[in-house]
Amino acid sequence: MGYKNKYLIIITGLIVVFFLLSCEQTKPSRFESVLGTVCVITLYEQGYDRIYNDIFSRIKEIEDLMSVNIQSSDISRINAAAGIEAVQVHADTFKVIQRAVFFAEASDGVFDPTIGPLVSLWDIGENPRIPSQHEIEDILPLINWRNIKLDTQTNSVFLKYMGMALDLGAIAKGFAADEAAKIAKTNGITAAILDLGGDIVILGEKKDKSPWRVGIQSPHEVQNTPIGFVQITDKLATVVTSGIYQRFFEAHGKHYHHIFSPSNGYPVDNDLLSVTVISDISMDADALSTAIFVLGYEKGMALLELFPKAEAIFIFKDNNIKTTAGTNFILTDTGFVVRSNIF
Ligand code: AMP
Ligand code: MG
Repeated sequence: MGYKNKYLIIITGLIVVFFLLSCEQTKPSRFESVLGTVCVITLYEQGYDRIYNDIFSRIKEIEDLMSVNIQSSDISRINAAAGIEAVQVHADTFKVIQRAVFFAEASDGVFDPTIGPLVSLWDIGENPRIPSQHEIEDILPLINWRNIKLDTQTNSVFLKYMGMALDLGAIAKGFAADEAAKIAKTNGITAAILDLGGDIVILGEKKDKSPWRVGIQSPHEVQNTPIGFVQITDKLATVVTSGIYQRFFEAHGKHYHHIFSPSNGYPVDNDLLSVTVISDISMDADALSTAIFVLGYEKGMALLELFPKAEAIFIFKDNNIKTTAGTNFILTDTGFVVRSNIF
């Protein structure tokens, strides 16, 4: 990841976490750079070092299995064997790939874990550039989740054609956040905030029983205060945002970000700046926020309806905001307008 982007992500993470910390006295949080982002874990009251260690080891383990940047990872091994042979993988990797395939099908293929060749071509994180139309057209046929072959008997994964490549960037952080929260919970932690670079899980309740507040980042600003916050009263909740401002570069006055349309090979260009999903399973919320962002508002809402526990906040390019009825979103930035609650 480029320094600039890393810096942006750190700032974004800090904004959200400081916002949360202002709500409750706490032991110090622990920050670590994992999964291509800065993860900030805050365990309240009983933040023992051992639990922090266990949580970060688990996140690191997931990175070692699922990162495309680690040569020995399951995902890199699957990609290296594309068109050649099936690769047996860890049960965790298999589970996340299966769920990614579920979301690919549910979203009519706009969410596609075989997006890898496009991610490499644009290289938004490291050395971004605008590829030629010819380059994009060459790789588009490789992006097709239907060409992932899963063998549930052996946990094996086969990509049918050489050059295909999985990328779990849109879902793996959510899985890691769920796993991190599970460790906190089984260790008796009664209140925690687990922020994996924007995939946030809130666990337990505050001592004074007041709702948690999770800041929603302004899509226009990098170093700004949140535009508002969601109030969380559930004992386990996740807040995940996909937006155009998380990883991007600018060229010829245009903004190119990291979420791609598998049909035309370009960063998605619709009327949305960001989509936040609030739910109880972070892996699903992660996949959903990306899928809904690509689908756009109307089709995204139709997908969201399949998940009764999920709520969403849509921030549009004209600074209007729409939220679903159960969102509990409080707007603080007067530059935006909440137009409607969707019931
Ligand atoms: P997120 O930040 O969760 O919305 O995920 C964005 C990341 O998912 C990108 O950095 C890519 O690694 C990957 N990605 C980009 N476009 C897609 C897509 N259409 N479907 C699935 N994954 C994608
Ligand atoms: Mg996602």
